[in-house]
Amino acid sequence: MSPRFRLRDLLIGAGIAVFVVWLMLFGMRRARENVSRVGCENNLRQLGTLAQMYCNSVGFYPTEVKNEKLGPSGSFFYDVATFAPYPDRDPAAPDPRREYLCPARRGIESSPRTDYGYGANSPFGISVLAAPTPLTRSAIESADGMTFTLLLSHKGVRPSQYDGSGPNDLAWYDKSIPNSRDPLSLNRDSDDLEMWKLLGSPHGDGVPSLFVDGHVEFLPYVGSEVHINNVPVMAARWAYNDGNR
Ligand SMILES: [Zn+2]
Repeated sequence: MSPRFRLRDLLIGAGIAVFVVWLMLFGMRRARENVSRVGCENNLRQLGTLAQMYCNSVGFYPTEVKNEKLGPSGSFFYDVATFAPYPDRDPAAPDPRREYLCPARRGIESSPRTDYGYGANSPFGISVLAAPTPLTRSAIESADGMTFTLLLSHKGVRPSQYDGSGPNDLAWYDKSIPNSRDPLSLNRDSDDLEMWKLLGSPHGDGVPSLFVDGHVEFLPYVGSEVHINNVPVMAARWAYNDGNR
């Protein structure tokens, strides 16, 4: 056996070893993201339960529009925390609760508002949490139905706004890739798009989303180029009275 032949064998062996290590790292990252995604979905389910309890108690769904007469404080997270079974609840700072946060994103140093959103107003309708007058069950039911009305989801966030300052940011955010969350490289949440039309999340290929009936669905990324009845699909999903079922 010539030395040259052995060198080639060595190189092939090293190549295989590198590939195996890469596969392992990729698998570990994937596994960790799966755990985060399940955690995120559970947190959203919990928030949905709290929203139902809130509605059962006061007769309408939470709104983020402050209403001194009716009671809403202007913070969905604060209002539903009243019904949370957490013994260490701090009413002065309800946001940095791990139970409200996406585990794939950050620790408690970042509030859920940074990640979870509700679409506010759009030409196609208004979201439940942006309703100036709090919405009742029957109002939502007769508009789009509870199962079709989105309550809370990850906001569309430009990758450039994830600056890597959170302990979990670096695990998925890669500044060298134009859009690290878009495996098809369609730049669906690049800086040039109208972000309000989009949902976005630190999860690889979609967004865990909470609907008014309490179910949580993993919505795959869809860009603003996709329309239902001339409405960008994501904006339509945000709106409670967009007319789509
Ligand atoms: Zn999440």
